[in-house]
Amino acid sequence: MQQSNQKEIDQPEVTVALQNFSNRFKTDESCLRFLASIKWKEGFVCSHCGHINYCKGKTQYSRRCTRCKKEASPTAQTLFHRCKIPLRTAFKIVYLSCKFPDITSSAISRQLDMRQMTCYHFQKKVKECLKSQREDPILKEFSKI
Ligand SMILES: [Zn+2]
Repeated sequence: MQQSNQKEIDQPEVTVALQNFSNRFKTDESCLRFLASIKWKEGFVCSHCGHINYCKGKTQYSRRCTRCKKEASPTAQTLFHRCKIPLRTAFKIVYLSCKFPDITSSAISRQLDMRQMTCYHFQKKVKECLKSQREDPILKEFSKI
């Protein structure tokens, strides 16, 4: 059982953090670019056939294997895969959860003006990921923002 009494995070502190975030990630496009740069840091390897040559895919920042023609998007196999929340908003939730480990989903929902349950479910996913994969390259980069 958890016995930490979750203290409310200082509101101004969160507001400032969100401003910093917004300066760095102005659009969904910048979020995709960020994901792509982490995902293919060591170069492209097709997850279907292992081929390393690719061409541009149909969607922004996606890559298409030149051998099996399968497309890989920057969000595939990440926390953001099939995420119903707009990417930049989902980024904010991950960012706040990494920066303020004690932040509650109700505080996030107030800050982002979203339904608490939506924040709760996604934050739960983020927390599970933080717990089980400390070395997750994306979460690692998030903690440096
Ligand atoms: Zn392939």
